[in-house]
Amino acid sequence: MADLDSLPPVRDIADRFGLRARRSLGQNFLFDDNLLDRIARAAGDLSTTEVVEVGPGPGGLTRALLRAGAPHVVAVEKDPRCIAALQELVAAAHGRLELVEADALSVELATLTTTTPLIVGNLPFNAATEILMRLLDRAERVKGMVLMFQREVGDRIAAVPGTKDYGRLSVMVQWRCAVERCFEVPARAFVPPPKVQAVVLRLKPRAEPLYPADPAALRKVLMAAFGQRRKTLRNAMSTLSEHAVDLLETAGIDPGERAERLSIEQFCALARAWSACEEK
Ligand code: SAM
Repeated sequence: MADLDSLPPVRDIADRFGLRARRSLGQNFLFDDNLLDRIARAAGDLSTTEVVEVGPGPGGLTRALLRAGAPHVVAVEKDPRCIAALQELVAAAHGRLELVEADALSVELATLTTTTPLIVGNLPFNAATEILMRLLDRAERVKGMVLMFQREVGDRIAAVPGTKDYGRLSVMVQWRCAVERCFEVPARAFVPPPKVQAVVLRLKPRAEPLYPADPAALRKVLMAAFGQRRKTLRNAMSTLSEHAVDLLETAGIDPGERAERLSIEQFCALARAWSACEEK
C-alpha cells in the first residue's frame, strides 16, 4: 500500500480530478510544500494533538499536517470533488486521516475528535469570519487555532484600540483568545492567486474570557458602538438604548468618546451595564 512519500504531487492530483477552483467555495489552493510545512510548524508540536482541518481541498496542508506527525487529522470539506481527490491520501495515511464531507458552518468542529483539537485551515476567505465566530462560541473545547485569513481580516482581528482596523472583530476575538500574527502569504503563492494577500494567525483560547460579560450583550453593544464609528458613543449607543448616556456613565466611559478608542475592558463594562438595564 502507498505511503505519504510515494503519493503523486498534490498539483497532479488536482489536475487528474479536474479540480478547477470555484470562487463560490473560496478555493485558492496551495501547492508549495515549504510554505505548507511552515503553516504546519506554526501549529507547534503536533505529535500528541488531534487536528481538525477546515477545507482540505486537494490536500496540500493535510499532507503537511501528517508529515509533521499529527496522529489524527479530521478534515472537513464541503466540495465532493475534493473528497474524491483525497481518497488516495486517506489510504496512504493508514488510519490517521478521516474525512467529513460537510459544511464547516453546520458541524461542531470542536467536537469531531475525542480530545480537545487544534483547528487548522487555509480558510475559504468568503466564510472565514463566520467559521471563526462559531469556533469562538466553543473556545473552551479548542486547544488552539492556526488559521489563514485574507490580510485585511487578519489585521482587523489583531488590531489594537486607536487604530483604523480596531472594531467588533478585534474585540470579540481578543476577548476570548490571545492573537499572534505568524506570517504573511503573498497572493502569488495560491492557485489561482486571489486579489488579496493572506496572513496566518495563531489563536490561543483563554481559560476564561478577559473580562466578564454576556457574549450576546457584548455583541449588541459592539454592533451599536461600531455601527456608526465616526459618531460619539452618546449618539452611536442611542440606537441600542434610550438610556445611552446613563449606560456609558455607569460603565465609567465618557459619552463624548468614540468606539475605536475604547478598550476591551471598557466594552465589557458597557455590556454589563446594558445587561443590568435590560433586566430591570
Ligand atoms: N487547504 C487547501 C489548500 O490550502 O490548498 C484548500 C484551501 S481553499 C482556500 C478553502 C477550502 O475550503 C476549499 O477546499 C473549499 O472547497 C473548502 N470550503 C469552502 N467552504 C467550505 C465550507 N463551508 N465548509 C467546508 N469546506 C469549505
